[in-house]
Amino acid sequence: MKATIIGAGIAGLTAALALRHHGVVSSLVEQAPAFGDVGAGIQISSNGMFVLKALGLAPQIEAMGVRARGVELLDANTARKVAYVDLDRYSGGFSHYMLHRADLIAALAVACHENGISCQFGLNVTPQSDIMEDSEALTHSPEPSHVLIGADGFNSVVRDKVAHSSLPEYTGYVAWRAIVPAVVPHFDGARIYMGANKHVVTYPLRQGRLINMVFVEKRASWAKSSWSSVGEKATLCCVFEEFGGDIPTLLTEIDRVHEWGLFRRPVPDLWYKKNTVLVGDAAHSTLPFMAQGANLAIEDAFVLARALGSASSPANAFAQYQALRQARVKKILTEAEKNVWKYHLSQPALRYGLHLGMSLLGQFLPAQLVRRLDWIYHYDVTQVPSDH
Ligand SMILES: Cc1cc2nc3c(=O)[nH]c(=O)nc-3n(C[C@H](O)[C@H](O)[C@H](O)COP(=O)(O)OP(=O)(O)OC[C@H]3O[C@@H](n4cnc5c(N)ncnc54)[C@H](O)[C@@H]3O)c2cc1C
Repeated sequence: MKATIIGAGIAGLTAALALRHHGVVSSLVEQAPAFGDVGAGIQISSNGMFVLKALGLAPQIEAMGVRARGVELLDANTARKVAYVDLDRYSGGFSHYMLHRADLIAALAVACHENGISCQFGLNVTPQSDIMEDSEALTHSPEPSHVLIGADGFNSVVRDKVAHSSLPEYTGYVAWRAIVPAVVPHFDGARIYMGANKHVVTYPLRQGRLINMVFVEKRASWAKSSWSSVGEKATLCCVFEEFGGDIPTLLTEIDRVHEWGLFRRPVPDLWYKKNTVLVGDAAHSTLPFMAQGANLAIEDAFVLARALGSASSPANAFAQYQALRQARVKKILTEAEKNVWKYHLSQPALRYGLHLGMSLLGQFLPAQLVRRLDWIYHYDVTQVPSDH
């Protein structure tokens, strides 16, 4: 069995390593000319860490990342703490890390290189590319031994080979991202500033020297879904001018900001066809409000690789993979969609009521704020039997 993986992002690189771990040879194809310095942070929660640990990457992540001690939920305007999600005390010893994406990609890429996995850069795969046509030809053999893995993200071209094409649907939210120097110290955890129809998430990176900022605003329309379009700092400052706490200071530090619309696509009923299969955002993109897209991609990669390493045929492996992933992925996608209304409540009475509720929960049942999400974070896919 051999695999060609389209896309050397988090899903593709993890899939290549996991395949190697399970005795399957693979190579990667990436449209970018090299691994770039993606200017953004990423949170890898314990469910993602279980996989990275199984692949031998935990020491690198622990060294590069900041371990999250908790999550502060703040009222955006007054910066008053509404509730504190105490991961240190209640996460059962499981660790969440906050990393620069470029560092995570670099750790995965170095591990691929050390394992002799090749990556062909600068090849933008299209439906007409040789790679797709060769793969199509292979499907005519009765027992194809070469599989094509679509790890090409939200705008996947491989998905069109597997599922009916669907147009991305604008969600009604626009996001900005920026990384700034930590001119004010940030605690070792994430802060969520909850405003009316908008919110901001901040967290430290690289031993606290940098702060990652993600801004989300409800907006009626948006044209493009590219996440590399440059935004206007002046517009951003204007939209978030009423936010308190450290936000005004951090806004002045922004040098470059990216702005993009958040889109969704329906998850296809089948994630595979013939010798082709999808992983990560190519199969199921999620809104970023649970910080789970990359973690799900990492889990997918492990499950798919384990299935390919042990099943009698790609078809059986793909079926086993989807059966194990589908329900969990859908549940997390729904949870992420639900989260945004909590962060964005604009009606003052409702907002007051919700903040009061969160605050009381935080005071009297603080463990509940963490444990209600144990089903996401305590899930160790490396220990779940393939046929579960
Ligand atoms: C603001 C924001 C914050 C987020 N924060 C978190 C977080 O904290 N934690 C978390 O778990 N998730 C987070 N996510 C989600 C996470 O970023 C994605 O789910 C994750 O990057 C998906 O990885 P992927 O490898 O499937 O896709 P991608 O990261 O999109 O990678 C796809 C790769 O394929 C390549 N490619 C694409 N098309 C082609 C082609 N035609 N030919 C060749 N190569 C191609 C691309 O260049 C890229 O390298 C966040 C998302 C956003 C928008």
